[in-house]
Amino acid sequence: MLDNQRVKIRDNFKSRNVEVEFFKSLDEVKNRVLNLISRESTVGVANSQTLKNMMISQELTNRGNTVYDKTFAKNKEESILLKKKALLTDWYITGTNAISIEGHIVNIDHSGNRVAAMAYGPDKVVVVVSKNKIEETLEKAITRARNHAAPLNAIRAGYKPPCIEQKQCIDCKSKERVCYNLSIIEGQFDPERMRLFIVDEEAGF
Ligand code: SF4
Repeated sequence: MLDNQRVKIRDNFKSRNVEVEFFKSLDEVKNRVLNLISRESTVGVANSQTLKNMMISQELTNRGNTVYDKTFAKNKEESILLKKKALLTDWYITGTNAISIEGHIVNIDHSGNRVAAMAYGPDKVVVVVSKNKIEETLEKAITRARNHAAPLNAIRAGYKPPCIEQKQCIDCKSKERVCYNLSIIEGQFDPERMRLFIVDEEAGF
């Protein structure tokens, strides 16, 4: 990532009350998260390939945090409960589908628990994003979320919407649809609430 690109991103998000920090690796991000969050805090963790690569839920759980991560659920009922509990935590950690250099955070969600927690509920939010998800503009970030992230997430979750074959979103009404919520975070009211951790690695999709 170029220095002038970093400055632009930091300044644009700062003007929207989102603090940006840059990291070389996911390991560095993990250490920062573990230092930032106290062991007494409750933590919601979104279902994210980037966070899975970091093993952050396991690390937090092992050192004593109460963690609500739906991927720990043994059945559907437990998954629903964990998603609800994650909405009222001290911290929420999530990946994202795309950010724009202009300062937007864009996500497409199935049931919407992740975008709900990012928008409101948890006291503090950490958004982890890898460099492959940075787009120049809001429009390009939305295109990335729809045409790239959504089909790959569908495959991961075992759904078969038409975008997998067609390699682009056709705004399907299929039962296999994976995206019912498009969220654009344009900033934060509370400047202490959200941190964006940008990692100079390719991770997630
Ligand atoms: S609306 Fe349908 S085609 Fe478009 S990204 Fe979502 S699942 Fe794929």
